Amino acid sequence: MKFIETRGNDGSKPSSVPFSEAILSPSASFGGLYVPEKLPNLDTNFLERHLDSHYKTLALDFLQQFGIDIETEVLEAALSRYDAFDNPSNPVPLSQIEDDCFVSELYHGPTRAFKDMALQPFGYVLSKLAQKRGEHYLIMAATSGDTGPATLETFKNQEGVQVACLYPDGGTSDVQRLQMVTEDAKNLKVIGVEGNFDDTQNTLKDLLASEDFKAELADRNIKLSAANSVNFGRIIFQIIYHIHSYLELVRKNEISMGEKIYLVVPSGNFGNALGAYYAKKAGLPIEKILISSNINNILTDWINNGTYDLTTRELIQTESPAMDILKSSNVERIMFDKFGPARTKELMDALATHGKYQLTADELALLREDFDASYSDDAECEAVVGKYAKKGYIMDPHTATCMRAYDTLRDKNLKTVVYSTAEWTKFSPSVAKSLGHEVKDDTEALKWVSANTNVTVPAMIDGLFTKPIIHSVVVKKEDIKGEMLNFL
Ligand SMILES: *Cc1c(COP(=O)(O)O)cnc(C)c1O
Repeated sequence: MKFIETRGNDGSKPSSVPFSEAILSPSASFGGLYVPEKLPNLDTNFLERHLDSHYKTLALDFLQQFGIDIETEVLEAALSRYDAFDNPSNPVPLSQIEDDCFVSELYHGPTRAFKDMALQPFGYVLSKLAQKRGEHYLIMAATSGDTGPATLETFKNQEGVQVACLYPDGGTSDVQRLQMVTEDAKNLKVIGVEGNFDDTQNTLKDLLASEDFKAELADRNIKLSAANSVNFGRIIFQIIYHIHSYLELVRKNEISMGEKIYLVVPSGNFGNALGAYYAKKAGLPIEKILISSNINNILTDWINNGTYDLTTRELIQTESPAMDILKSSNVERIMFDKFGPARTKELMDALATHGKYQLTADELALLREDFDASYSDDAECEAVVGKYAKKGYIMDPHTATCMRAYDTLRDKNLKTVVYSTAEWTKFSPSVAKSLGHEVKDDTEALKWVSANTNVTVPAMIDGLFTKPIIHSVVVKKEDIKGEMLNFL
């Protein structure tokens, strides 16, 4: 399986690369991204074959169908990281919350957010590749709160890889910040940045593109890679749980094999939704992928009107900070798939130059074949969290954005899977507030919610508050490079 480039080839890079190359050096020509040339076939045969498979068996077969250049033993070891999830026999449980609505819980890993689903195995694969080649990589991650902890956790003490993690100071929850600043390993560095997530992500993109930073790294014999969802190594693992969720519905006799379902995906950088799109394209019976956002609803605009306009927007901090994103990276991969490399380059260039672009009516129609979209503000999310808490189900604010899409966007009476991307413990003050109890901080909120509902706080969250702080640096954007060179 070869990987090609979303904005076409500039003549200096190879016109296609194997998987290993696409994940070690994820930046493609003209600032584009790598995408697979084709997808495996998820036909009824494949699905029937995995009706009784363990998650890891399904995943391994899927990865092998993809034809990636990673040895089976490495993939098996990578997938065995799911054994450390809450329930090793099923890392991604499905809970019913309405007659026809099910929550696929993607957060049962070590950092309590869906990022672990991909980063846990991905981190293992990447460090094995680095070790095998005798190379040394630097992973820089910009995080709005969940990528950071999951990236640090997966690479902690792994040879051949150093990780530097940038987070917007004040833009994450207490638990998220503590998860990062208490991580103690020689190969990890955590830096707070003054600004919001888009500033942080842009700083990282500029640094990664900068020739003199690359030269500094070359001097030290360090290569750059990335662990956010611009890296296809993340995306490939994010296709699998969509297949798993479908099979769970079949196993529970909620649908028959081949019956279509809706997926609702709370989205930011659109990696989770892109995984769903590839699953649908490969043959998984999905009626439509419903995208939910918070008030930073640029994706709603894109999918409903074909408009992507940064010029009229300012990033707004919400109670679902992992979705406080305006420049959504994986939108580009969808456009490549639907409109081709020349048009994708044109649109992405327009976004860089003018801060906006508009799809044609035909392009919009193509996009809407697979997607529909809506959003919820914080007040609406609070109401949703409160409503389901009364029924005995606690969800986090990101998951709560999904329920409006569930209520309003379905044209057909089909079973629906809503993705839960974080455990309530990462956003406990907001959850407590939704249940009618305002508290000052995370410690108090965790106590109150667990005392007043049927949920408990897992040990890895409880333990954060007594761990020593290892990383206390907060810097201005322009000082990142210096801070980085110190670390290296
Ligand atoms: C990362 C994240 C999202 C957004 O996922 P994308 O793949 O970037 O669209 C949503 N919810 C939570 C809790 C997350 O951590």
